[in-house]
Amino acid sequence: MRAGILKEREGSIAIKGAGTGSVSCGRDSVSGAVSQRACVFCGARVVLNPITDAFHLVHGPIGCASYTWDIRGSLSSGPELYRRSFSTDLRERDVVFGGVDRLRAAVSEIAERERPPVVFIYSTCLVGVIGDDVEAVCREAESRYGIRVVNVKAPGFAGHKAMGYRLACEAIMDVISRDPEIPRRREGINILGDYNLAGEAWMVAGYFREMGVPVVSTFTGDSTFASLRRSPGARLNVVQCAGSMTHLARSMEDGFGIPFVKASFFGLADTRSALLNVADLLGSGEVRRRALSLARRESRRAERAVAPYLPGLRGKKAAIFVGGGFKAISLIRQFRELGMETVLVGTQTGTSGDYEVIQSLVSPGTVVLDDANPAELEAFMREKGADILVGGVKERPLAYKLGIAFCDHNHERRIPLSGFEGMVNFTREINLSVNSPVWRHLRGRAAPGGAWEA
Ligand code: SF4
Repeated sequence: MRAGILKEREGSIAIKGAGTGSVSCGRDSVSGAVSQRACVFCGARVVLNPITDAFHLVHGPIGCASYTWDIRGSLSSGPELYRRSFSTDLRERDVVFGGVDRLRAAVSEIAERERPPVVFIYSTCLVGVIGDDVEAVCREAESRYGIRVVNVKAPGFAGHKAMGYRLACEAIMDVISRDPEIPRRREGINILGDYNLAGEAWMVAGYFREMGVPVVSTFTGDSTFASLRRSPGARLNVVQCAGSMTHLARSMEDGFGIPFVKASFFGLADTRSALLNVADLLGSGEVRRRALSLARRESRRAERAVAPYLPGLRGKKAAIFVGGGFKAISLIRQFRELGMETVLVGTQTGTSGDYEVIQSLVSPGTVVLDDANPAELEAFMREKGADILVGGVKERPLAYKLGIAFCDHNHERRIPLSGFEGMVNFTREINLSVNSPVWRHLRGRAAPGGAWEA
C-alpha cells in the first residue's frame, strides 16, 4: 500500500473509492506496530473510575496506576474519592512469592479506614502472569467487612481496550443486580456512556429535566453506588458512548427488561434527533412538544453563536482519531455542519457496522483506519494535508510535533463539547486551534497538493 505501512496492517486501512474494501477491525493489535490503542485494564478503569464514592485499587506495579491516574476530566457533585489513585505497588519479591498478602492487607486497610460502599480491584498484567487468587480475597473481604468488593480481571495483554469496556460493564452489572432498588412504577431514563467530562452529563440531564423526563442514573459520570443501584427503576436506557456501554445496555435489557436507544449529543443535528427519539420512545405528546421547543430554541441560539466562525473554517481539512466509532460518526457530521472536510477517520475500538457508516458519510479519497499507529497517522495526515487532528492524550504530541492544530476530544478535557452549548465550544476550540498563527511559523514550505513538510 504505502511505504512505512506494515503489510499485516493493510487490511485495517481503507481509502474510500480506491477499491480497498471494508476495514478489518476488532482484532488484536499487530505486534511491533506501536498501536495507539489502550490496554484492557485502561479500558476497564476509564469506564469505572467516575463512580465517585468507589475505592479504585490497582493490583499491580505502580506504573499501571500512574498511567490511569485522574485521566478523565470527569466531575463529581459529591465524593472525591475517585480522584485518588491507589495501588498495591507490586515488586520483584511479590512476583516470586505472590501478591495476595499485599492485596489482602490493602483491602483491610481500605475497609477499616475508609469504609467505601464498593471497592473495585483491577488485576493488571503482572497479576495475570503470577496468578494471584484475587477472587478469594474479594469474597473474604465481603464477608468480613460487609462491603462490595468487585474483581475486575483486566490484565492488559488479554485483548484490547474494548475487552476492558466489557469487563467494566460486567462489574457494574454485578453491582446493580445484587439487591437492586426497583420501584413499583418505573419512571425516567438512565444515561449510559456519559462520563460527565467537564460537567456534560449535568448539561444533558438539564435538557431532559426541561422535557419533564427524570434522569435516574448516569453511567458512570457523577455516579455513586446508591445511584447505580437505583438504575433498574428506569424505563429507558439512553446509550451515549455505544462502544463502552452497549454491552451493559444489552445486559440490563435481559436482566431488568429495560429497552435501550443509542443517542449522540455531539453536534446540533445529532443532539436534536437524540432528544426527539427519546421523547418518541417514552410515548408522551407533552414530552415531545417540550423536546421540540427546546431543540428549536437552543439550535437557533447555537447557530447564531457559531455563525461568525464559519467563514474562517470553511474548506479546512480535519483528521479524526478517537476511541469509538459512534463519536467518530458524530464528528464527521459536526465538521460538515462547520463546512469542513474530513480527510482521515480512525478509531481504537470501532466495529464493522461503525466503519460501514463512516465510509458512507465521507468523501472519496478519505482514509478510514482501525487501531492506527503514529507512523500511519503521520503519513496519511501529511498526504491529505490535514489542518487539524481531533484525538486524545496520545495523539496530541504527534499533532504538535508535525506542526498541526489539535483539538482534545477525549478523557482529560476540561471543556464541555456535547449538547447545544458543546457545539458552540467545539467550534470555538477548532477555530482557535486551526486558525492560530503559530502553525505558519512551525510548518515548513508548502508542498504541492496541499501537503506540507515539517
Ligand atoms: S498493558 Fe499491562 S502493564 Fe501496561 S498499563 Fe496495561 S495492565 Fe499495566
